[in-house]
Amino acid sequence: MSVEAQSAVAFNGQFAREFAELAIPWQAEDAPDPKLLVLNEPLAMELGFDPASLRNPEGLRLLIGVSLPSGATPVAQGYAGHQFGFYSPRLGDGRALLLGEIADADGGLRDIHLKGSGRTPFARGGDGLAAVGPMLREYVVSEAMHALGIPTTRSLAVVATGRPVRRETQLPGAVLTRVASSHLRVGSFQYARAMNDDDLLRRFADHAITRHHPSAAEVENPYLALFQAVVAAQASLVAQWMLVGFIHGVMNTDNMTISGETIDYGPCAFMDAFDPATVYSSIDENGRYAYGNQPLVAEWNLARLAEALLPLFHEDHEQAVALAQEALGAFHDQYSAAWLAGMKAKLGLPDGADDETASTLTNELFTLLQEGKVDYTAFFRALGTAARGDTESARSMFLSSAVFDAWTERWRALDPDADLMDQTNPAYIPRNHLVEEALAAAVQDDLEPFNQLLAAVTAPYEERPGLERYATAAPESFGPYRTFCGT
Ligand code: AMP
Ligand code: MG
Repeated sequence: MSVEAQSAVAFNGQFAREFAELAIPWQAEDAPDPKLLVLNEPLAMELGFDPASLRNPEGLRLLIGVSLPSGATPVAQGYAGHQFGFYSPRLGDGRALLLGEIADADGGLRDIHLKGSGRTPFARGGDGLAAVGPMLREYVVSEAMHALGIPTTRSLAVVATGRPVRRETQLPGAVLTRVASSHLRVGSFQYARAMNDDDLLRRFADHAITRHHPSAAEVENPYLALFQAVVAAQASLVAQWMLVGFIHGVMNTDNMTISGETIDYGPCAFMDAFDPATVYSSIDENGRYAYGNQPLVAEWNLARLAEALLPLFHEDHEQAVALAQEALGAFHDQYSAAWLAGMKAKLGLPDGADDETASTLTNELFTLLQEGKVDYTAFFRALGTAARGDTESARSMFLSSAVFDAWTERWRALDPDADLMDQTNPAYIPRNHLVEEALAAAVQDDLEPFNQLLAAVTAPYEERPGLERYATAAPESFGPYRTFCGT
C-alpha cells in the first residue's frame, strides 16, 4: 500500500478544530535517518493501517509525523498540572504532538500521538526530544499492561531518528507513536478552567462525556456524572495497578487521564519484593508516589479535577463543593471493592467468598511477604502451583517456612481455584533487570533481548518452557533499582 492508500485511514482533526484555545498547531521535526525499531502489527491492523507499508520509508515518515496523512492537523495540546503537589499553570506537550484522531472499529476515536517529535511552544527548557531507551521502555511496559488487561495507552511504533539526544551522556534519539482513547488529562481540565471561560469549560466537559462517559449525558447533572465516572474509572485503574504491583512513579495531575487509561510511562516500574514503601524514581525523594500511596494520590488528583469542574456542578459555590465532596467520597469504597475482588481472584477464591476472611488472609500474607522480602509476582504465580498441592516453590521463598505453612493450611481449606489463579497472576511482567538489559542492548543496536522480553510480557499468563528467566526475581547482584524522570 502506498502512502495514499495509508491515508485512506482517515484522520479527524476534531480536537484541533474544536479546541483551538487549548492547543497550538505545530509540525514534527524531520529526522536525519529514521529507522524502525519496533512496530505493533496487530495494533496497526486494528487501526486500519497496512503494516508492510508502515515499514517503508514513506510509512516511517508517517509514523514520525513528517509526512502528514490527509486530515491530520498536528497540534501540541496545552495542559496544566500539579507536579509533586505544586501547581504549574502551563505544562503542555513540550515534546509531543497529537496528529489527529482515527475512528476505530467500535466507532470510538483513538488519538494518534507522537512523543519525542521536537520542541513545541510548550517546551520551556526542554529539548523536545526523547531517547531510544525510554521510548522502548514505554513501548514494552504499556504493551505489557495492555496484555495484563489493564487500561492503558498503546504503543504503535518506535522509530529511531538518527539524531543524538544530550542527557547525562549523548544518546540515540527516537519517536514513539502512541495510541490512546484520548489524551484528556486532569491537567487538561485544570488548564481549561484557568482560561476563566465557563462556556469553554462546558464544551470541553461535553467533549469528554461524548468520548468517554456518554451515559453521563443522560442524567440531570451531566458534569457531576462525568466526575463520578472518572472517579470510578480511576478507582478501578489504580486497584488494578496495585494488584499487579505496578508503580507509576510520577502521578502528577497531568499524567492522569479522564478515560481511565494509564498514561506516561516515565519512571514507572513493577515492584520486585513486596513493600508498600517501594519507590524507584530517583526524583521522588519523599516517596510521594510510593506503591502504597497510589490510591491516596489518585484521590488527591481527583480532588483537583473536581476543583476544575466546580462551576459546572452547581451555580452556587457551596453547593458545588458539597456535590464534589460527596462524589469524591465514593472513591474509597469503589477502590476497596475493586481491590478486594481482584485479591480474591489472586488467591483463587470465588467472588462471593467472605470479605472478612479474604481481607484477613491477605493482610497476614502481606506481612509475611514484607518480612521475607518476597518477590510479589513470583510468589503469586507459585501460589497457583500450591493450590494444586505442590507448595514447595512458594514455601521456598520464605526463610522461615513455619508461618507460611500455617497460613497455607488455612488458605487451602478454602479450596482455591488454581486455574483462576493462573489466569489472574501473571508469570511474566517487565521485570526491572530484564527491561534494563533489553534497553542496554537495544541502544547498542541489538533488539533481540527487547523482542524476547516483549514476546514474554505480551502473553503474561501463558507460561512457556524456555522463558524461566523472565519469571524469576532479579539476581542479588542487580542491586537496588532506580528509575529516572529525565527521559
Ligand atoms: P512528564 O514527565 O510526562 O510528566 O512531563 C512533564 C512536562 O515536561 C510535560 O509538559 C512535557 O511535555 C515536558 N517535557 C518533558 N520532557 C521534555 C523535553 N525533553 N522537552 C520538552 N518538554 C519536555
Ligand atoms: Mg506527562
